[in-house]
Amino acid sequence: MSAQIQYMSMLRPGVFENGCASLGHRMRRSQFGKTVLEYGAAVLLVSGALVSSLVIQRYFPYPFLFLFVAAVMTAAWFGGPGPGLLSVVLSTFAVDYFFVPPHYSLAINATDTAYFGAFVVCALVASWVSASKRRDAEALRDARDLLEARVAERTAELANSIAEREEAQQGLVQAQSELAHLSHAMTMGELTASIAHEVNQPLTAVLNYGNACLEWLSANPPNLEEARLAAETIVKDGARAAAVIGRIRALFQKQPLSTEWLDVNAAIQELIALLHHEITNRHVSLRTELAANLPRVKADRVQLQQVLLNLIVNAMEATDNINGTPRQIVIRSLLQNDAVISLSLEDNGCGIPPGTAEKIFDPFFTTKPHGTGLGLSISRSLVESHRGRLWAEDRPEGGSIFRFTLPIESHS
Ligand code: ADP
Repeated sequence: MSAQIQYMSMLRPGVFENGCASLGHRMRRSQFGKTVLEYGAAVLLVSGALVSSLVIQRYFPYPFLFLFVAAVMTAAWFGGPGPGLLSVVLSTFAVDYFFVPPHYSLAINATDTAYFGAFVVCALVASWVSASKRRDAEALRDARDLLEARVAERTAELANSIAEREEAQQGLVQAQSELAHLSHAMTMGELTASIAHEVNQPLTAVLNYGNACLEWLSANPPNLEEARLAAETIVKDGARAAAVIGRIRALFQKQPLSTEWLDVNAAIQELIALLHHEITNRHVSLRTELAANLPRVKADRVQLQQVLLNLIVNAMEATDNINGTPRQIVIRSLLQNDAVISLSLEDNGCGIPPGTAEKIFDPFFTTKPHGTGLGLSISRSLVESHRGRLWAEDRPEGGSIFRFTLPIESHS
């Protein structure tokens, strides 16, 4: 208890000193009561030993003094050194008066001095041993209480730090998602012109066929068959424009992971269709070698297309400055084994800067004047969130190959 109080005052001294004045008063009073009880118990124990010894004396030829030693030990154990010493003094007088000849006198015969002296020494030693044992036991208990208080404090600190770490982790996940969205939006921003072109084509067709339809209808007599064909084309092109806009919306939106049983080849073709104009404008030849037997994989279509988009944009940029040879990009898909499909994107561009095959995946690593250095690191984290791997290799004929794997069932 004393250790706990000391510990509490150590933690919050002001509160303890000011706020606990009345508690201190009450504690002093109860301490006084306890002292009286301990000394009273010493007197009672010695009295009990005296009465019992006097009774035993009647049936026993020698003075029976062990009960006094027991009383001293008990008093010292429960009361400590003070009550222990009092019980030694009282026992000494009682033994001298009642049991050491001449009886009923405090005088001692010369022949009994040694015997009496041995008793006094015995009682003193018993008192000292008992009191010190008691002190040790109390010290042990105080140490245990202190340890418990410390453990409780450390546990609370640990719980706090775990809560803080969880909060920080949540912040990190949020930041990563913001970053992925930002980079994606930036990449997509560069492609806005090409996307506008994709939407413009069906819209122009809608306008042209709309005018033609009006003309067929206003002819005399109206050519209903041609008008119907023109109207059908309008509906088809309108639907195409809506589909293009839908795909763009899905690519721009920041969405949580939503997996589906995905036809990877179809997702690749869809993205290429979207980038068609940009690819043609940059005079890049993009070829695909897609395995026919590819099973569907459980993956997020938008995220997979984000990875491919980053890789295609990088490949186009890598081939920007090559002269003499045609700029080429090849996208391949194949079934690596029963559980994994493998995709690769190959270009004949400038190649990965020497010694940086791993470094290029670090966030903010870029060799481009206006690069962000985020595309590959985000792509790798997206692939890894599907439990796949993304890495880069040198292309033996010059240029680079980016490969990634996707487990067929990446999410349970
Ligand atoms: P950024 O394109 O903004 O630089 P990335 O993370 O996409 O960011 O790419 C990091 C770096 O990796 C690039 O700056 C470039 O040096 C290298 N890199 C990426 N793709 C290719 C590639 N197809 N060929 C050669 N180097 C590449």
